[in-house]
Amino acid sequence: MSDYRIETKCIQSGYHPGNGEARVLPIYQSTTFKYETADEMGKLFDLEESGYFYTRLQNPTSDAVAEKIADMEGGVAGMLTSSGQAANFYAVFNICEAGDHVICASAIYGGTLNLLGVTLKKLGILCSFVDADASEEELAKAFRPNTRAVFAETISNPALVVLDIEKFARVAHAHGVPLIVDNTFATPVNCRPIRWGADIVTHSTTKYMDGHAVQVGGAIVDSGNFDWEAHADKFPGLTTPDDSYHGIIYTEKFGKLAYITKATVQLQRDLGAVPSPMNSFLLNLGLESLPLRVERHCYNAQKVAEYLDAHDKVASVNYAGLPGDKYHELAKKYMPGGTCGVISFELRGGREAAVRFMDSLRLAAIVTHVADARTSVLHPASHTHRQLTDQQLEAAGISPGMIRLSVGIEHIDDIIEDLGQALAKA
Ligand SMILES: *Cc1c(COP(=O)(O)O)cnc(C)c1O
Repeated sequence: MSDYRIETKCIQSGYHPGNGEARVLPIYQSTTFKYETADEMGKLFDLEESGYFYTRLQNPTSDAVAEKIADMEGGVAGMLTSSGQAANFYAVFNICEAGDHVICASAIYGGTLNLLGVTLKKLGILCSFVDADASEEELAKAFRPNTRAVFAETISNPALVVLDIEKFARVAHAHGVPLIVDNTFATPVNCRPIRWGADIVTHSTTKYMDGHAVQVGGAIVDSGNFDWEAHADKFPGLTTPDDSYHGIIYTEKFGKLAYITKATVQLQRDLGAVPSPMNSFLLNLGLESLPLRVERHCYNAQKVAEYLDAHDKVASVNYAGLPGDKYHELAKKYMPGGTCGVISFELRGGREAAVRFMDSLRLAAIVTHVADARTSVLHPASHTHRQLTDQQLEAAGISPGMIRLSVGIEHIDDIIEDLGQALAKA
C-alpha cells in the first residue's frame, strides 16, 4: 500500500514503468506468455513461482489495474473480474461451499439478491436476508453454525440505505466470519470500508470507476486482515490442502495473500470470468479521473435532491445528503465528502406518474445503467427488479412508484431544467 492520497493513487498506483518503458499502462492483448524452458513453465503451474502464462488466470494490464484498486481501498491484494456479478459470486464462493450459509443485508442490488437468494441455493449455499437497520442483537440471531460470511453494500442500489459498517463488522467478527462489502456506489473516493472493519471489498467497476459506460467489469480487494487460520474449521478451502494443486495450503503458502491467490488460481482457472486486457485499460483511464468525477456527481446530486425535495409533485426523496434523510448521520460518519450521484424518489402520482415523467425527459435517458457521466433514469419495479415479488421489493426498499435517478456530470442547470419540464407533464 502506498502512502499517497486517493487522488494520487488513482493516477499513480499499479503501474510503475522502468527506464525507457511506456509511460502509460500498455494493453497486453495476448492470451499467452513465452518461456525458455519446460521447467520454468512447470513451476508456474505448481504455484512454485509466480509469472504470467495464460490470460484466463492473470494478465499484466489487468493486474496493474487490480493493484491500483487494492491500493485505493487500502487492501493487500486485488483482482479483476469480467463483471460486478462475477466479483460478488467469487467473493462468496471463494469461502463457501455446499452446506454453508451466508447472511446478507436485504436492501441490495437486484442481481446480487438473485445471485445469493436463488442461484447460490442451487449450489447448496443458503442465504438469510436481514434488515441493514437491525440491532446487533437482531443481526446475531441470523447466524447459524454453518454461516461463513456477511454481505452488504456501503450504499445500497437502488434503495440508498447507508450501511453501518462498524456494526456489521463487529457482529460478523464476533461470529468468526468476514464482512464482505460491495462498495460500488460510494467508491473508495468517498468511503474505504476496510478502515471501518470490512474484510473483503467488491466492486462493479462498470459504474463510477469506469464512469463512461464503456466496459462491464468487477473487482475484489482483500484487506488481509481476516485471520482464516484462527477459524480454520470454517474455511477448509483456504486452510486445508488443495488437491488441484498437489496439496498446497493457501494460508500456509501465501499468508495474507491467501484469499486473492485462491480466487485467482482456482476460481479464475476453473470458472474463467476474466476481463479483457482492453477493458482493463479502459477502466484504468476511468480511474484516473474518478475523484474529479465523483466530486461533481455528488455536487450535482445534492442540488437535484434539494430541488426535488422542494417540488410539490414529489412525494419523497431518498438521498443521504439531505439533512432530513434517515441515513444522513451514518453518511456523515462514513462518507463525509459525499455519498454518490444516485437519488431515488417517488412522485405523488405513483407508478403512472413515474412512467409519464420518465417518458417526458429529454436530457436524462432511460437506460439500464447508473453511475456514468450521463444523467439517466430507471424504474426499478419494471426494470432491474422486475423479477421480484411485491414482498421482496418492499424488503429491498423499493416501492412501485420509485424512480432511480443517476445524476451525471453535465451542467447542473441543464439537469434541473430537464427535470422541471418533465415534472410539469407528470
Ligand atoms: C451493477 C452492480 C452490480 C453488478 O455489476 P455488473 O458489473 O453489472 O455485473 C453489483 N453490485 C452493485 C452495487 C451494482 O450497482
